[in-house]
Amino acid sequence: MAKLYFYYSAMNAGKSTTLLQSAYNYVERGMQTLLFAPSIDNRFNKVAVHSRIGLTQEANGFDETTDFFACISSLQENLPNLKCILVDEAHFLKKKQIKQLTQVTTELRLPVLCYGLRSDFKGEPFEGSSYLLAWAEELIEIKTICHCGKKATMNIRIDATGQAIEEGNQVQIGGNESYISSCMLHFRQDNKTFAQDRTTLETPCTQQ
Ligand SMILES: [Zn+2]
Repeated sequence: MAKLYFYYSAMNAGKSTTLLQSAYNYVERGMQTLLFAPSIDNRFNKVAVHSRIGLTQEANGFDETTDFFACISSLQENLPNLKCILVDEAHFLKKKQIKQLTQVTTELRLPVLCYGLRSDFKGEPFEGSSYLLAWAEELIEIKTICHCGKKATMNIRIDATGQAIEEGNQVQIGGNESYISSCMLHFRQDNKTFAQDRTTLETPCTQQ
């Protein structure tokens, strides 16, 4: 049965590498795949999936106006042995697009493998990731580590001097900023805005 999968992780865990390896495994067995990557990533001329270890493959671009069900239905007509859909940077998807991808699994009976982050550099969930976490039938964590050796689950945006940036737009690709993955302890130490934003409730606890 075709399912929606969400492979999630912090930055620099090898999501794109894992995606390209999965795509290769299908192609090696004579099957066809469709790759999608965001068009907003304009560091490169063509839309492609780029992995940090040097692997690259062209992909179909998507933005927030892309209707995945219509698009995949149409492309499938020329791909008689299409067996798998792979979506890179899936945190950039919108709610309605995740719903379209669930329709791809149930009506076109194609597995959809989405790869993305759970939260942004402020610790806020991405829209796409929220609904992938809610609706994916399989959740798979791709693990990476903080500088301290613990599992990294959060992302810190840093400027050219290595200082943590706490404010700014959620979507910002490339440029002078970059990202490091970190555990919660070190995310809270670097992001004072996140650490100090705690609501004090009137009732601390109820003693029995
Ligand atoms: Zn740490």
